[in-house]
Amino acid sequence: MLHQVNNPTSNTPTSNAPTTWIKNPLAIYSGSEKDARGGLVVQGNLIIELVALNAEPIHRIDNVVEAKNHVVTPGLINAHHHFYQTLTRAYPEALDKELFHWLTTLYPVWAGLDEEMHALSTEVALVEMMMSGCTTASDHHYLIPVGLEHAIDIQVEVAKNLGVRAILTRGSMSLGEDDGGLPPRHTIQSEQTILDDSLRLIHQYHQREAGAMTQIALAPCSPFSVTSDLMKETSRIAHQENVMMHTHLCETMDEEAFCLKRFGLRPVDYLENVGWLNDKTWLAHGIHFNDEEIKRLGQAGVGISHCPTSNMMLASGICRNNELEAAGVKVGLGVDGSASNDGSNMIAEVRMAMYLQRLRYGSANVSHLDALRWATQGSAAAMGRHDIGSLAVGQQADIAMFSLDEIRFSGSHDPLAALIMCGAQQADRVMINGEWRVHDGYVIGLDLEALLIQHRQAAKRLANKALKLR
Ligand code: ZN
Repeated sequence: MLHQVNNPTSNTPTSNAPTTWIKNPLAIYSGSEKDARGGLVVQGNLIIELVALNAEPIHRIDNVVEAKNHVVTPGLINAHHHFYQTLTRAYPEALDKELFHWLTTLYPVWAGLDEEMHALSTEVALVEMMMSGCTTASDHHYLIPVGLEHAIDIQVEVAKNLGVRAILTRGSMSLGEDDGGLPPRHTIQSEQTILDDSLRLIHQYHQREAGAMTQIALAPCSPFSVTSDLMKETSRIAHQENVMMHTHLCETMDEEAFCLKRFGLRPVDYLENVGWLNDKTWLAHGIHFNDEEIKRLGQAGVGISHCPTSNMMLASGICRNNELEAAGVKVGLGVDGSASNDGSNMIAEVRMAMYLQRLRYGSANVSHLDALRWATQGSAAAMGRHDIGSLAVGQQADIAMFSLDEIRFSGSHDPLAALIMCGAQQADRVMINGEWRVHDGYVIGLDLEALLIQHRQAAKRLANKALKLR
């Protein structure tokens, strides 16, 4: 099932560990003020030095990686995804629909997901992310039909094997269509089952130390697919266990209408009502807020994952990134599920974020640097991480290197702007936790062709299952 055997090793740096100088990059976005134009030095799994222009490192150097043809950035951080949806990209019946109709079309298809399909879809999504410069990937897996009770365990295993940092959320759906929710009955679980499994996963997998490779967060799917009781209990457990919480909120006007009708509350008031308006929460989308709500979200320290492609694909609206950031909200970036994107390409998403936000705020008020910040420090902060997201001394060695030798970059001048504006699609090299995981654009040690053959077969199996049920 797994297509590579490249187990990561935890390698805390010591003065004896070999050092690597990523030397004299063509351009670098470090996310800090410090001059890093001479590159950076990595030892073990940490960045130990930024090198100024024309300077030599002060540390002993064992290995040199010439970066004169590369743009270097912190590893990109994806704050919202549904890996399993790689099996239903461009699904005919779901085309050209907005969120609620799109979801009700796909729920019965997704209900056929089994363990093998789930493992393959997780692996494809993660590989696609890594190839696009992503070093930390979050997933919101809320679909746990009978037989898929170990969905998150499977994801932990796949991510570990690939050596990618993963923030996996134990998603949930508990409000079926018989009770006024959106998902069909056979895709939901009981509240007790969800809460028990949440605790099990936190205790089994959640790492708390700096440099954590696997983390668990709790993620009821959305106001229209879980009960208020589950939201409240989830908040209680997240505070008790000190883990993050994630959900979809304010994605569409349909959702707002649902909340007003069912709870008599706008979505943010509902969020507060169930104990979620605090700094343990990051939300996917966060589009339809009024000014007063933006202020409250900022004061509460909530994070938002902006998902521009999905918002365009489903015509959901445009997130108010600049106003949210100005109010103190931590704004990150997510590709969202591969059925509403329909890709998992993080560097491509940076470009989408820049352009969609320009439509709202104008060209002079949104730059490629803003979009890069959302995809790095923004996503890290939104998900409660302080050890990743920038190239600074003491940060984890998560690094993406992009070469600008493709036709799309020919004739460009500012390399950092070109990376985004000319539409980069693929990283050349990616380091995660101090280990090279992508080289020459491919995940090291992975049989990509074999993986894709199996993944395509799984997608067909899932679609055929849905056909038979009709
Ligand atoms: Zn989503």
